[in-house]
Amino acid sequence: MTDKIALEEHFITETLAPYAAGNQPTQDAAAFAVLRRRLADFGEGRLAAMDAAGIGYAVLSATVPGVQAEPDAAKAVALAQRANDELAEEVRKQPARYGGFAALPLQDPAAAGAELERAMRELGFHGAMINGHTHGQYLDEERLRPFWERADALAAPIYLHPCDPVGTPAMFAGRPELNGSVWAWTVEAATHALRLVLGGTLMRHPRVKIILGHMGETLPYVMARLDSRTRHSGREFAVEELPSAILRRQFWITTTGVCDPASLATAIANLGEDRVMFSVDYPYENGVEAAAFLASAPIPEAVRAKIGRGNAAGVLGLSYWKETGFTKKRSIKHPQQMLHQA
Ligand code: ZN
Repeated sequence: MTDKIALEEHFITETLAPYAAGNQPTQDAAAFAVLRRRLADFGEGRLAAMDAAGIGYAVLSATVPGVQAEPDAAKAVALAQRANDELAEEVRKQPARYGGFAALPLQDPAAAGAELERAMRELGFHGAMINGHTHGQYLDEERLRPFWERADALAAPIYLHPCDPVGTPAMFAGRPELNGSVWAWTVEAATHALRLVLGGTLMRHPRVKIILGHMGETLPYVMARLDSRTRHSGREFAVEELPSAILRRQFWITTTGVCDPASLATAIANLGEDRVMFSVDYPYENGVEAAAFLASAPIPEAVRAKIGRGNAAGVLGLSYWKETGFTKKRSIKHPQQMLHQA
């Protein structure tokens, strides 16, 4: 039965391909060629992989680093529009199976906010996928305020994806084994999320929903430590709430790449059974393996259904019917209606 939703499912188009040239998830050339072919496929191959994993609906996003790698801000704005239009075209061909997360030109924060609004209102996208920092700029920085104001007004789901850190931090020097998704990405993404928590961005924008992959990039495991050390640091903080309160209010996580019952149990216990969502990380992870993990996890059936589709349906605005599958609840508003709302 294809009754699951998946939210970290990547693609590439010819427009975006030059930017991903440095993204080498594997040193194995043959495996890399297979990944590239799968990323570029919006047709039978992708749908067959979804069917095999019991996924009815996948939210597609540009693979890392995407438009954020463009050094010129004006070019990035045009590139993001083009990439989102290309994705919208593919979603239109398979509206019952695909949804979209927008690519955003964060090089220009106001334009990024406008593109998020266009993508959600006009293209029917569910929110955005942000591939980590943009040329070393992080999302809690003051210049990003116009973007967050838009995102908050839209109550937008923002999926914060890992990426390579800037340069080689001293702690990774001489140990390339730690690079990429082995460890460096986890440190990068978890730290980026905590900047939003401790820097006050999410306290100021409480309607924004942050989604983290990879079972929450270790944050569900360290919540008690974050709270206790925040309490005892003696430092003035930008926010009065403890990190765990903001994490429980504004974070959702997906199971991508962590097919481990103990990690799932910790995430459910610390973040809550309403905050964990199934996903694959296609084509970098195996959907059948991810589905088998969820199917066999020692959790009540009602929780399995929440993780498989219920929680994501709530975040994305989807309805599910056994007979017909998934449909989008949000109507795509006419630009004229947007003017009246503004
Ligand atoms: Zn991913």
